[in-house]
Amino acid sequence: MDLKKIENAVLDILEAIGENPAREGLELTPSRIALMYQEIFSGINKNPEDCIEVFKEEQHEELVLVKDIPFYSICEHHFLPFYGKAHIAYIPKEGRITGFSKLVQVIEVISARPQLQERIVKETADTIMKVLNPHGVAVVIEAEQMCMSMRGIKKPGSVTVTSAMRGAFMNSPALRQEFLSLINK
Ligand SMILES: [Zn+2]
Repeated sequence: MDLKKIENAVLDILEAIGENPAREGLELTPSRIALMYQEIFSGINKNPEDCIEVFKEEQHEELVLVKDIPFYSICEHHFLPFYGKAHIAYIPKEGRITGFSKLVQVIEVISARPQLQERIVKETADTIMKVLNPHGVAVVIEAEQMCMSMRGIKKPGSVTVTSAMRGAFMNSPALRQEFLSLINK
């Protein structure tokens, strides 16, 4: 990541909004923002498929759910945060499973980019489908979008929910219902 270029760009923004970048409180802001971007955009050019390690567990074909995973991302339209909880479920096929922390890493890598909430659920579900090849995957995200809370329609506290269902979760309303009732407990 080109930290110097970010610093210069932030300096330009500070000037453009009518601020004095040399005043005490703002002096280090360009370099702080450059380091922050390096951290919160660390998922750019990373492949989330690399997060998943596949293990073999004899004939486990029951629902696996990791719920209430905290996540943070940046909306690509306004460069403001959105954040909340993610829930990921899958049903292993032929005993192929992965660690819970690996599922969390997938969503962390995908979230650490300029993003849309709709795309995070889709990319997370597709990544797990591709690497684990399970019977099905379900991903739900509940988030507050700061670009809806701070600006525009200004509706703080409103929660946006997005979901992606693949395989068995798409084909079986009963399974989808089981998943939704588990995450709403
Ligand atoms: Zn936005």
